[in-house]
Amino acid sequence: MAPTVLHIAPHPDDEAVGCPGALLHLLDRGWTVVSVIASLGFEEQWGRRRAEAEEAASRAGFVPIFLDPPLNLDLDGDLALAVRRVATELPAIVAQHDASLVVSPSPHDVHHGHEAVGRGVQRAMAVLPPTVRWWMWGVWGDLPAPNIFHAFGARDLDRAAHILDAYAGELERNDYQRLLSGRAAANAVLGSERVFGFGSPAASTLPFADVLTEVRLIDGRFMASEAHTLDEGPFPDSSFDRDLTPWLDSPSVHEMVGYIREVHGEPRP
Ligand SMILES: [Zn+2]
Repeated sequence: MAPTVLHIAPHPDDEAVGCPGALLHLLDRGWTVVSVIASLGFEEQWGRRRAEAEEAASRAGFVPIFLDPPLNLDLDGDLALAVRRVATELPAIVAQHDASLVVSPSPHDVHHGHEAVGRGVQRAMAVLPPTVRWWMWGVWGDLPAPNIFHAFGARDLDRAAHILDAYAGELERNDYQRLLSGRAAANAVLGSERVFGFGSPAASTLPFADVLTEVRLIDGRFMASEAHTLDEGPFPDSSFDRDLTPWLDSPSVHEMVGYIREVHGEPRP
């Protein structure tokens, strides 16, 4: 049976933005990509946003799954409940699809909805099989210790842009296409050194890259694999000897000091 990766997007479109190059890389190598969409914005938007997410999944070749009911990730919503729901509902979805890899934002991704989903995945890891790996990406907050560098070319960026383009309603609000290309270009330059060590040369001549933090839960500790690219295979032989538990267990800045900038009125999902 083909291996399965399960990506959990706090909002519809995060699966197109978080690490699209890495997901398409796995898809091209025969993986099934299950795309869990955790929320759908305001109730009056559910229909439109679900339709956009289904169109995006069909363009990508991903298998879409929608949490039912969608999580409420509003800043004034019950974020602790959202964390609990991800922690308790994710293991059954992982088991149902026999996924060997879970991908999500890190619990330090600054946006309250992303952090809630990241925390939920962190908790879920404790009850998932110990062989399951967790890849984290950073969109609103950069990863401090990435260990996967995946370079890709213009063709794959175009594919990701086509998937993102299904989210016409969100793109109207802000130009996430520029984020997609600009962030991937920045990752290609900075990512080599962030993953392989400051002072290391460019890891690829390709113009774009995703960077990720990979961990496994071993004896109760979140252990990171050695720095690698996906060209060595998604799961190269690696020792997991860097303990990232102190980082993952530490409160995020928002958990420590509260929300620094909060827009009242219509929240921005
Ligand atoms: Zn999001």
